[in-house]
Amino acid sequence: MSGPRDWSVAEPRRRGIARRILPAALAFVVVLGGVAYLRGDLQELIGTAPGSPRSAPATHHVYRETGPVDARCDTLPADPDADVRKTLNALSRCLDRMWTATLAEADVDYERPDEVRLVAAPGEAACGVDDYDWAGVYCPDRRVVNVLVEEEQALSTMFTLAHEYAHHVQEISGIADQQGAEVFDEAWSRRLELQADCLAAVTLRGVDSRVLENQLLLAEGETDAADDQAESYRRSHGSGASSAAWIARGKRGGKVASCNTWGAPADEVS
Ligand SMILES: [Zn+2]
Repeated sequence: MSGPRDWSVAEPRRRGIARRILPAALAFVVVLGGVAYLRGDLQELIGTAPGSPRSAPATHHVYRETGPVDARCDTLPADPDADVRKTLNALSRCLDRMWTATLAEADVDYERPDEVRLVAAPGEAACGVDDYDWAGVYCPDRRVVNVLVEEEQALSTMFTLAHEYAHHVQEISGIADQQGAEVFDEAWSRRLELQADCLAAVTLRGVDSRVLENQLLLAEGETDAADDQAESYRRSHGSGASSAAWIARGKRGGKVASCNTWGAPADEVS
């Protein structure tokens, strides 16, 4: 395949226990053009394949030029569940502040998402993915963060918001830009999604410890695919074990560089 192509991933929310307690599935839609495809072995040879430490996404300057993210959010309501929208709006402003300061270290001008849309139903999303059962979605063309707000689910929606913000950062910084040689497939999607999980952990690690504890429990509790939707989610977003591992890395490392999924071996992004 070659030439311009639209890429759309919108996955089902997790089923079973995870769905009952915290629907935490994340969705991402990105439009990319001019993707050139080379054979995998040739990419390995020239070092541009995702997974090569020499690939363009793995060597982006933000990894070298940014330090620990100042992950505090003093303006959050004491009880995050009391008014989930209020909580998410406060967190949104904190995420803007964190990413402005961090990206400035690498001379990247942070621009807020054009809109942070807190929706009550998927049909209210800005990028036309209302036929999917998603918890969050980022529209890169319009730069809109959408989060499905569910009452008394503040912890999981806070993670979703930070994850979609991470997609916004991937977009405006160009971290995951296609350079022409990377294969754009499910493995690419997993690197993108697991990086967003990790970056979400970087920004949430000092906000409210329960958010990441909760997310780690969810991820670690995910079992092998129980049905086609779960399997589809795993293929595009990575396994629960991989997600937990990258969340732990982000929490521990606290930097963008802690989240370089683009240079990680395949078994870490499975
Ligand atoms: Zn995502």
